[in-house]
Amino acid sequence: MVERADFLHALENDIKPAFGTAAEALEHFLSRGIINWGTPVSSLLEDGQLYIQQARATEASGLVSVLLEGPPNSGKTALAAELAKLSDFPFVKVCSPEDMVGFTETAKCLQIRKYFDDAYRSSLSCILVDNIERLLDYGSIGPRYSNLTLQALLVLLKKQPPKGRKLLILCTSSRRQVLEDMEMLSAFTGVLHVPNLSSPEHVMAVLEESDAFSKRDLQKIQQDIRGAKIFIGIKKLLALIDMVKQTDEESRVFKFLTKMQEEGGLDLDHTNS
Ligand code: ATP
Ligand code: MG
Repeated sequence: MVERADFLHALENDIKPAFGTAAEALEHFLSRGIINWGTPVSSLLEDGQLYIQQARATEASGLVSVLLEGPPNSGKTALAAELAKLSDFPFVKVCSPEDMVGFTETAKCLQIRKYFDDAYRSSLSCILVDNIERLLDYGSIGPRYSNLTLQALLVLLKKQPPKGRKLLILCTSSRRQVLEDMEMLSAFTGVLHVPNLSSPEHVMAVLEESDAFSKRDLQKIQQDIRGAKIFIGIKKLLALIDMVKQTDEESRVFKFLTKMQEEGGLDLDHTNS
C-alpha cells in the first residue's frame, strides 16, 4: 500500500532530481563562489542588480533580457548564475547545451520552448540560457549554425510574457561578434561585458582568497609580477591554482609563475607601466 510517507519520500528523493529547485540548478555553477577580484566584478554585479530591479518593477514591461559576454573562461556562467540567484525569483530554469547533446534541431527548439512556456506560468521567472553560440551549433570552422534554433530564440527573447508576469532572461556567450552578425545583440535589453583579469592586483586578490600560498610566497609573487602584463580568465586562474596546490610548498611560486607564462596569462617582458 502506498502511504503518505511513501509519497513524501518519493517527492523528496525521486521527483526532485527531475525538476530540481531553483537554488540547486544554480548551485552547480556556483560551487566555487564569486571572488570579487576587482572593480570589474563589483560594477558588473551592480549593473546586474539594476536589471533585476527593472525586471521586478511593476510599471516596467514584464521582460528584461541581459547578455553576459566575454572571453572564454572569464566567468560568464558563474556570474549569470549569481545574478539569477540574487534575483531571488522563485522559478529558475537553466537552459544549457550540455543538457541537449544529441538533440535534433527540432527537439532543441521544443525543449527551449518548453522552458519558456513553464516560465510564463510563474509570476517571477528567470531563465539562464548558457553558451548561446553553442546552443545554436555555431562552429567557427565553416561558419555554420542552426537557423531554426536562432529564429526560435529570437522570437522568445522578444516575446512579452502574459500580463502580470515577469521574466528575466540571462544569456551568456563568448562570441559577441557572432551574435551581432546574427542580429541577436539588439534583441537584448542590455549587454554586460565580463572581462579577464588584467592587472597584477586582480591576480593578487584571487591568490589571497586561495589557501595555496603562504604570506611570504604571496609577497614574492607580488614582487615578481609587479608591472607585468596580465590577461587571464578567472576559471583558468583557479584551475592553475588548483594544479599548483598539488606541488610541494617550496616549488609553488616558481610553478605558478611558469604556468602563468606558459598559459599566456602573464608577460613579464612587456610591462604595463
Ligand atoms: P566558458 O567560457 O567555458 O563558458 P565561463 O566564462 O562561463 O567559461 P565559468 O564556467 O563561469 O566561466 O567559470 C568561472 C569559475 O570561476 C567558476 O567556478 C566560479 O565559481 C569561479 N569564480 C570565482 N570568482 C569569480 C568571479 N568573480 N566571476 C566569475 N566566476 C568566478
Ligand atoms: Mg560558461
